[in-house]
Amino acid sequence: MADNIILGVKKEEDPSENRVSIVPKDIKSIINLGISVEVEENSGNKAGYTNKEYESSGAKIVKKLSNKVSIVTGLNAFYNKKSDFIKNSSVISLTDVRTDQEISKICENNNLSLFAMEFVPRIARAQKLDALSSQASIAGYRAGLLAATSLKKYLPLMMTAAGTIPPSSILVLGAGVAGLQAIATAKRLGADVTGYDIRLAAGEQIESLGAKFISDEIPEDTETSGGYAKEQSKDTQTSQLEFLKEYILKSDAVISTAAIPGRKAPILIEKSTVEQMKPGSVIVDISAPSGGNCECTILGESVDVNGTLVHGPKNLSSEMAYDASIVYSKNIFGLLEIMVTENKLEINLEDEIIDAMLVFQDGKKRIEA
Ligand code: NAD
Repeated sequence: MADNIILGVKKEEDPSENRVSIVPKDIKSIINLGISVEVEENSGNKAGYTNKEYESSGAKIVKKLSNKVSIVTGLNAFYNKKSDFIKNSSVISLTDVRTDQEISKICENNNLSLFAMEFVPRIARAQKLDALSSQASIAGYRAGLLAATSLKKYLPLMMTAAGTIPPSSILVLGAGVAGLQAIATAKRLGADVTGYDIRLAAGEQIESLGAKFISDEIPEDTETSGGYAKEQSKDTQTSQLEFLKEYILKSDAVISTAAIPGRKAPILIEKSTVEQMKPGSVIVDISAPSGGNCECTILGESVDVNGTLVHGPKNLSSEMAYDASIVYSKNIFGLLEIMVTENKLEINLEDEIIDAMLVFQDGKKRIEA
């Protein structure tokens, strides 16, 4: 019998990353695919999973992954460019390969095959693998909570013996996966919620959550065939800023999530608008890692601009690492099911999921990211 494939769970090296790429609950299913599992010691600690749980699920805890490992999993496996990459292995991870040339060099020098989790195609069959959606949904939920706890106000209407307090009004800009979850969370907490998106198709989804949809005069072709937004012309951007200003100034909190894949996030909130917001207002800019939707956003910081608190969170899903790891682990398992047949690694390039995700094969670039 051929030797088992060995999968290695890499301990995240980014000190601000709390998630782990595989959770103990999925180890048995992975073993059932004919794969043995090594887990770097304490990989799951920050997410709430102990070495013992991994061991009792059948994994081997190691100080460092052995060079027999042929599949390495991670959340951000290329964070440390000086890490010991296992030559000839396949790496499954979220990456910045689109923008970070050094990742390409590492793949070439170590003969790596790279399955980039951000490249999962948005087709029905690949939904189980869709890490961008699984993590964006958590980020949206967390942003709703952050807005709620940062406001010095109730979210719901409160009738008390001392008088009636009106509900807080929350505006969500961008109603993709994260935005819709932020809307749902703020609605559940009782806020008066309004949603906006450049894609008119998002209107129905916003309204189905019980929020108001606002729309300006936007051109008809705002959506790509893949369902993403297109970058807007300068004129449209200017009229958008004008249109949104009135709604932003009426809101207690704004959660902004607007993004264009592979591009800098569009500016939807100007500094001059933030300066005019009511004191005590809050902005949670989920798009901070891709440049931010607000001109005042600073990545990884919360800044006070004339009494308005502007949050630029770096990694909201990592703040909910236990559940974020569960869904990410399931996303990876979905890929393993496609990659492994009868205990063998089968890289079938005719499979459109593999074809879309395999950026490097044996050190050779096959997708111009
Ligand atoms: P995203 O993270 O790329 O962008 C977030 C939102 O920002 C999007 O709704 C986008 O329309 C919006 N946006 C961009 N520029 C804007 C601007 N200037 N003003 C206002 N809003 C702007 O998007 P996402 O969350 O990844 O989702 C994009 C689409 O893909 C959605 O329609 C979603 O339902 C769809 N989707 C499909 C699948 C699937 O079929 N498997 C999976 C996930 C998402």
